[in-house]
Amino acid sequence: MISLHVRKTPTKRTPGTMRKPLLLCSRIFTAILFLIALAQPQSPLRAADSKSTAASGGVGVVSTTQPSFDGTTWWNYVKILAADNMEGRETGSPGLHKAQEYVVEQLKRAGLEPVGSKSYYQPIRFESRQIVEKESSLALMHNGQVEPLTLGEDAIFSTRVDLAPVVDAPLVFAGYGLTIPELGHNDLADLNLRDKVVVIFAGAPAEIPGALASHYQSAGERWKALHKAGAVGVITILNPAAMDIPWSRISANRAHPSMALKGAEFDETTGEELAVTFNPEKAQKLFEGSGHTLQELIDLVKDRKPLPRFPLIPTIRAKASVNKKTVESANLVAELQGSDPKLKNEYVVLSAHLDHLGVGEPINGDRIYNGAMDNASGSAVLLDVIASLKKSPKKLKRSLLFVFVTGEEKGLLGSRYFTTHPTVKPGSMIANINIDMFLPIVPLKVLTVYGLGESDLGDMAREVAQSLGVQVQADPEPQRNAFIRSDQYNFIRHGVPALAMGVGFEKGSPEQEIFKNWRTQRYHAPSDDLDQPVDLAAAGKYEEIIHRLMVRAADAPGRPQWKPDSFFRRYAPMASGLY
Ligand SMILES: [Zn+2]
Repeated sequence: MISLHVRKTPTKRTPGTMRKPLLLCSRIFTAILFLIALAQPQSPLRAADSKSTAASGGVGVVSTTQPSFDGTTWWNYVKILAADNMEGRETGSPGLHKAQEYVVEQLKRAGLEPVGSKSYYQPIRFESRQIVEKESSLALMHNGQVEPLTLGEDAIFSTRVDLAPVVDAPLVFAGYGLTIPELGHNDLADLNLRDKVVVIFAGAPAEIPGALASHYQSAGERWKALHKAGAVGVITILNPAAMDIPWSRISANRAHPSMALKGAEFDETTGEELAVTFNPEKAQKLFEGSGHTLQELIDLVKDRKPLPRFPLIPTIRAKASVNKKTVESANLVAELQGSDPKLKNEYVVLSAHLDHLGVGEPINGDRIYNGAMDNASGSAVLLDVIASLKKSPKKLKRSLLFVFVTGEEKGLLGSRYFTTHPTVKPGSMIANINIDMFLPIVPLKVLTVYGLGESDLGDMAREVAQSLGVQVQADPEPQRNAFIRSDQYNFIRHGVPALAMGVGFEKGSPEQEIFKNWRTQRYHAPSDDLDQPVDLAAAGKYEEIIHRLMVRAADAPGRPQWKPDSFFRRYAPMASGLY
């Protein structure tokens, strides 16, 4: 059928007399398909559907020097990386290792070198932590009266921090718990937090600009201020207006191990003895007797309004038993050397996380969390771009660095390790384009660029996208904190201008609903698998943008710079090391 003609290029056949007529036939066919596709309105397609390639806008553009992407080769990579036999690619698992072996094979095939001609693997050691619930408990104490909390229903422990075996402490409600010196904003002012556990809502008030709000909500930054104020723990009430997945799913996987990088240099939560995530529907019990109700606070949080701050009546008693073990995993790093004698010492970095959640609690009988969009899709873009580079004879001035990180789902750990211990010379990475769950589930008309206004890289992305007829917008949902929720953030913290991009939607459009439903139903669920609607044309166009942006950054005379008014410019000196 249609897709077979487009997909099966003659390259897989033995060269022979049939080759040219077949190619010609296929080209004519492609041109006809392209015209048909133009005449049809684009709609999300089931990728497995034979009609998929008909809507691939890129197929009509054939050039010998410029690769063009139609989404089919991309989807072929996704199919391999997100197959059931990769077992959800959890950090440290045989499934992830298998996926890594496949990636390494592709790197070799494309002629990419390991950096410094060593291994492609950058090994990393993690501490895995798993809560033992039958030996753990949480309770609120009211004047000696014990009110036990039900783990899983009321609240869950977060093992991202090194939990103390026992914590007995008074509670204080500190609003959003944010300290932002640049704005003179301090939710901790006038509160006595010494030896107390702080109760906060996830989120930030609307008046705080997105980048600042995101940065100071990161676990490390938030804890820095709380620790300084004397707090010993944090209870975070999830923000019902910004929850990507329902409480039932968060709770279902609470026994899944979390991980931390081994080594004191990576510990950002020293002194945090207790970390608990609270179900917003059950949080009223924290506020009993305080003169405030949960509903009153939720109404404010929903509209991103400032919150009151006040001491709470009950105290918390926590007992935590945690199983710890050492886990090993690795980032994969490969380079394609540039051609300019001087500029080849600089790198444009493309990154994507290969890890996902592994095998977990079953939902509708399925326990493999395949992570097709999150983030086989991004890793597949890297592989597809890598394969296209081999075909393209044009040499770029700067070198390209491809990094497939591990441990993203465990808290951006692989990228943290890589940016702290880069395998290339410090200061040689001039730009990072990170790809994580770019969601080609609707036609690509609007591209959301995270970090759009922060550096020249944002301007480049805008120009490239517009040249392909795609509009660009900054993050339309800053309350979701997407900017700090993937690996680009670690590059940013090391001074490297970085951005991430995803297929976007206009506010209030039907597409917004599609994205919302995707997050509720498939995000971090086993149904983020190969059996979901995907728009191949959108994926192809996205790859085209990534490819052009990468080429532009690699061939530009100068490095991209942070904008003078960018908050993240403060990290720039870290990236200007001599090399
Ligand atoms: Zn994820």
